[in-house]
This record gives sequence, structure tokens and C-alpha cells, in this order.
Amino acid sequence: MPIAVLRAETFYLPPPTQPRNAWDQVPAAERVFRWIEYRLQRRVVPPEATVDQTYFARINGNRWLTDCICGSAQVISPTDPRYACTECGWGWCAVTFPADVAAVEASLLELAPHLRHWWNELDPLNPVQPEPPAEEPQ
Ligand SMILES: [Zn+2]
Repeated sequence: MPIAVLRAETFYLPPPTQPRNAWDQVPAAERVFRWIEYRLQRRVVPPEATVDQTYFARINGNRWLTDCICGSAQVISPTDPRYACTECGWGWCAVTFPADVAAVEASLLELAPHLRHWWNELDPLNPVQPEPPAEEPQ
């Protein structure tokens, strides 16, 4: 069985002193706040409201990821397409995933996990941008 692309719910897991399913009731987008608290031993409170911002999801090294305007990034999930930043506090933002998440993940499974990368073609941060139209000869 190939290694699955990691999502928030398979990346941000409870500490080994707790049962593996201890966070199963925590929404996927909020698991990072639990994870940061135990990993860094500091309180991080998710924002209470939403902001008018949408980020694009991408796959980086086999993880669904999005980038924050502050330069931070975190693992996200198509099962809960929201993002709030544990670094700068910005959020909750909507996250745009591809229409067919399973097809994108399946298209990468032949590759070793560290080689699995994918960008939304509409993402302005996508390093592969469409060619500008050729200029007509004068
Ligand atoms: Zn941020």
C-alpha cells in the first residue's frame, strides 16, 4: 500500500502519552493549535472570527500545505478547508483545494514521498506560470 499524502489529521497527532485517537473530535484545521501547545509548551489560541482571505492548497513533500501572508506555513486538510496561523494569528481564512483531491493525490503516489509536489495552476505563488502570449512580429 503506497504511503498516503499527509493531511492535518494524519500529521498533527497527540503526544505518545495520550491515545492515538485522543484528538479525533478536534476539527482538522484546529489540530495544529493542540500540536503547537504540546510541542512548544506555549498557549496558542485560534482566532474567533474569519477574515476575507483565501489561500491555495498545495502539496509539498507529501503534505497538504498552505502558506500564510507572514511567511509561515502549516499542514492542512481537504476535510476542513480553513486556515488560521499559529505564528501571526491571521485567520480564519478559506482554503481552495482542487476539485478532485483524490485524483491529485493519486497522480503523485508513484513518486517517493519527498518528491511529491503539486501546485494549483491558479495559485499566484505557483512557480510554474503560464507563458505570456507571444508578441506579434512588427
Ligand atoms: Zn501567519
